[in-house]
Amino acid sequence: MGPLARLMRGGGLYCVFQPLADLSEGSIYAHEALIRGPEGTALHRPDALLEMARQEHILQDFELLCVVIALWQWGREGRGGRVFVNISADALVSGVAMCGAGLLGRTVGELGVSARMVVLEITEHERVSDMASLRAAVREVHASGARLALDDFGDGHSSLRLWSEVKPDFVKIDKYFIRDIAEHPEKLQMLQAIKGIAEVFGTTLVAEGIETREELRALRDLDIPYGQGYLLGRPARLPFESIEPVARETLLDRRVAVLPHQGQHARPGILRNLLVLQAPTVEPDTHNDAVAQLFKTHAELHAVAVLEGTRPVALINRQQFMNHYATLFFREVHGRRPCSSFANHAPRVVELDCDVDQLVGILTSQDQRYLNDGFIVTDNGRYIGLGTGDQLVRGVTEARIEAARHANPLTFLPGNIPISLHMQRLLDSGTEFVACYADMNHFKPFNDYYGYWRGDQMIRLLARLSVAHCDAQRDFVGHVGGDDFMLLFQSGNWLQRCRDLVAAFAAEARTLFDDEAQRAGGIWAEDRHGVKRFFDCTTLSIGAVRVAPGRIQRAEEVANLAALAKHDAKLSPSGIACMAAALAGKGGVPQVLHAMPAAAPARAAT
Ligand code: C2E
Ligand code: CA
Ligand code: CA
Repeated sequence: MGPLARLMRGGGLYCVFQPLADLSEGSIYAHEALIRGPEGTALHRPDALLEMARQEHILQDFELLCVVIALWQWGREGRGGRVFVNISADALVSGVAMCGAGLLGRTVGELGVSARMVVLEITEHERVSDMASLRAAVREVHASGARLALDDFGDGHSSLRLWSEVKPDFVKIDKYFIRDIAEHPEKLQMLQAIKGIAEVFGTTLVAEGIETREELRALRDLDIPYGQGYLLGRPARLPFESIEPVARETLLDRRVAVLPHQGQHARPGILRNLLVLQAPTVEPDTHNDAVAQLFKTHAELHAVAVLEGTRPVALINRQQFMNHYATLFFREVHGRRPCSSFANHAPRVVELDCDVDQLVGILTSQDQRYLNDGFIVTDNGRYIGLGTGDQLVRGVTEARIEAARHANPLTFLPGNIPISLHMQRLLDSGTEFVACYADMNHFKPFNDYYGYWRGDQMIRLLARLSVAHCDAQRDFVGHVGGDDFMLLFQSGNWLQRCRDLVAAFAAEARTLFDDEAQRAGGIWAEDRHGVKRFFDCTTLSIGAVRVAPGRIQRAEEVANLAALAKHDAKLSPSGIACMAAALAGKGGVPQVLHAMPAAAPARAAT
């Protein structure tokens, strides 16, 4: 008898329980039973137990025993709550057969648990050998009053097929999709797609492996009904009375998660959509004659890459090389010499997975050789081909046009559509937040005086500082257009953040003026009536509206109030004005409560 078989006989196995929480209330919905062997032995973890069961050819017996132990232990606890129990499809089929037709409910009941409280989690989706018998077993399970879940959805090969065949009551989403969800727009979209499927099949979703508050908050805001993970409670011998306090606090905190925005991050992998030329390559000691021959036979090549092994080290430009090659006595002197002396040893190398920002960096850099030389494309450092300057420009343009639909093309910050959506989510959630309209003072004269290139720099400066002064998890930065930004704060210390932002902007914006203007504290420029007058260096005004729960329904109203507050801010010496939307005066006319006393922005020295 193998060690596991002995353990099974000797009663050495037991279950631990991990809570599943209702994410909208923070209450416990159910527990999952997880099998354990004796502590401190090699057979403590389920993976080891399952592996040993395979080796000893007693996998199904072992799995069925696990179900019996789980139900029996749960029944003995006598709490009457729901329990999720793991089982593979094949073990389920044979377990149902062993009970006999119509007798599953009775067998479960004899273990001290009502079948209605049991959810069988089907694990290891790859291992479904007979779909017809599985369907029959599923009917038996439903007839008994028990329910079914699909475990680790997204992990196996045939999960989606199983979902449509079995029509489980629950689907548990694998922790891969949950990990760092608050930072990955792609995962968020996957989860939204999974939600869509769940709606079609009428399935209830459970998110697994929740470890951080950010993950929990994002899942709650996505309306995923149930969740499980270390943050909510680690598997333990006894069932939980309530989930861990940090998790409860996070769930009851009505503040809204700032969901990652596709446009906020330049999307990687844009080169995948471009044509990469699979051009032949040379080695550093390839002779010049051979390179010339290569260019002659491949008329389409604008350049060739020089590789050491698979790694690019240089690029030879056709035109430059052939110009040399055509000169008198070149062939006689250099023909049999290595080509590397006529190569560019600092070529542009771009990873296939690069993002738009990196390509923009090339377009705007000092070194404009990419226009003629093109660039080398690598995948994880290995050469895969060449790209041309034209393609680079086209790729960036296309990516920017795409991004501009939802994000401002200059700053890549979310534009009006996502701003309104986020504002609406805040209003709907009933959380308190502060909407701030940030606007520059004397931006127009600066822009007219120094030109749009520096104007763009100033706008990007404000974008960068705004993002830096916000809490990425709580606060949202949007770019309305021009020099107008919208900041939606849930951070309690929003006022200090605004003050710091106003001060930091005043200091850094000055550095974009020339020395003389910095000394004078501003510039002479024409005002909107064409009259020459003196304008101080550019500073920032912020109009803030505190929105208390329930007073405002529509995002548009908040935006209007914030625009009004901005006008007051322009008149305030601190650059900041605040109004409380909840205390709007009669007839819906908002009252300015007070201009917040704040440190005056660094005024131009005279
Ligand atoms: P599973 O069914 O997906 O169970 C969840 C596993 O993830 C458990 O590991 C649990 O301790 C772990 N987990 C829970 N929250 C978190 C989290 O926040 N982060 C991370 N990284 N992990 C988390 P465990 O207990 O080691 O079980 C491993 C697997 O063994 C289970 O995965 C299940 O497939 C199998 N298993 C466990 N008990 C049984 C059983 O009684 N019968 C059968 N057939 N399989 C079982
Ligand atoms: Ca499970
Ligand atoms: Ca699982």
